[in-house]
Amino acid sequence: MKRILAMAVASVMAAAPAIAGPAPADLMIRHATVIDVAKGRAVADQAVAVRNGDIVAVGADRTVARQYSATLTVDATGKFVMPGLWDMHVHFGGGQGLIEENKDLLPLYLANGVTAVRDAAADLSASVLAWRADVAAGTLLGPTIFTSGPKLEGYKPLWKGTIEVGTPAEVDAALDRLQSMKVDFVKITDNTLKPEIFLYAVKAAKKRGLKTSAHTPFALAIEEAAKAGLSSVEHLDYLIKAGSPAETSIAADYVAGKLSYGEASDRFVETFDANYAKSEYDRLAKLGLYVTPTLNMGRILAYLDREDHRNDAGLTLLGPGLRKTYDWRVERAAKATAAQVAARHKEYELSVKVLPMLRDAGIPILAGTDAGYLNSFNYPGFGLHDELQRYVEAGLTPREALASATLTGPRFLGHDDRYGAVAKGKAADILILDANPLADIGATRNIRGVVVKGQWLDRAALDRLLETARSKAARAE
Ligand SMILES: [Zn+2]
Repeated sequence: MKRILAMAVASVMAAAPAIAGPAPADLMIRHATVIDVAKGRAVADQAVAVRNGDIVAVGADRTVARQYSATLTVDATGKFVMPGLWDMHVHFGGGQGLIEENKDLLPLYLANGVTAVRDAAADLSASVLAWRADVAAGTLLGPTIFTSGPKLEGYKPLWKGTIEVGTPAEVDAALDRLQSMKVDFVKITDNTLKPEIFLYAVKAAKKRGLKTSAHTPFALAIEEAAKAGLSSVEHLDYLIKAGSPAETSIAADYVAGKLSYGEASDRFVETFDANYAKSEYDRLAKLGLYVTPTLNMGRILAYLDREDHRNDAGLTLLGPGLRKTYDWRVERAAKATAAQVAARHKEYELSVKVLPMLRDAGIPILAGTDAGYLNSFNYPGFGLHDELQRYVEAGLTPREALASATLTGPRFLGHDDRYGAVAKGKAADILILDANPLADIGATRNIRGVVVKGQWLDRAALDRLLETARSKAARAE
């Protein structure tokens, strides 16, 4: 007996140097159910240890709790932990006078669990590039920013803050400039850009290893753009266009001036053919094209005729300058004829059917809102939850909706080594939710706390961010 005890003591002593006490951590989340979005699994009673902005361990609570000693511990018993959400289509813009109001949108994203945004260009690129650096350095509280910098357009476009290109040499010079800004991707739009220059820009960007995101010129078939190497198409109307067997002839009529833009858009909806679309989407999937549906934005714009947004809670969070930019679309919608309103409803109803077809074809879906200036009633941060809700209403599973906002964005931008999971080695961008988002996508709205770059923001801190936004907006009246 005595000898056995002595042996046990000796073995403990011998093992002691190997365990060497727990390692330090800044934060430990304990007893959490961790959502694995890739596998669609919820793993119970896990602990997550965070240090210097990284997740350093995830595993069975008892094991991880023995291995790490944290400065701050959050009890997540009964709660669900998932990776931070990415909004892959936002804007910061509206003129130099709105720089501060745009900067004040950053906390709204965090308060809604959006820990990264992809800025799809506007007229405040210099500010956005500075905020990207400040957020990365930890001197500005906000989501990680990925930005295109100024977008490429043709000469004298409707949009401000663009780089105007009309020749291959100008495209090359523009790409040199964008690379010197270290942009995360290249945004190209079609307002006045010539189709051949569009194709040249896509190919040239690809050669340099840059991703592209676009509004494709009407005259070009979406498949042509994808074949040139276009990385992502923004908005579902382009996929409706691609789903029409008459895409090329309608586009030719538009180019020849026989149809207006609106008439051509309506024609794509009228001639959409599900069988043809299915085979076309299969081809686009094989070409590696991604799509950002901005489905909820389509819905908001389609139903401005019957939905009154004047008492939206979101309006109280925006500065008056940004709110004013909303008028443009509202005034335009007010001028629509009954036939135009009906056509808009029809287009939205079709886009709801298109979304699951893209999923079935294997086209990766990037959750994005189009929130920001101009895009009425689509509130930064809040809008992403609405977008995910629309996806599920359209037929995606909650897991697929979550994947579009956690996995696909990092993969698109080539950062999936750092983002997209609550796992060792990933960035500590984490949400703690009250309910299981795999069971009900609405659960992403009920946020207990957010970890952003390792920093813990509890519910009270998130509410303070919203309160600050509200009082700033009211003061600015
Ligand atoms: Zn946009």
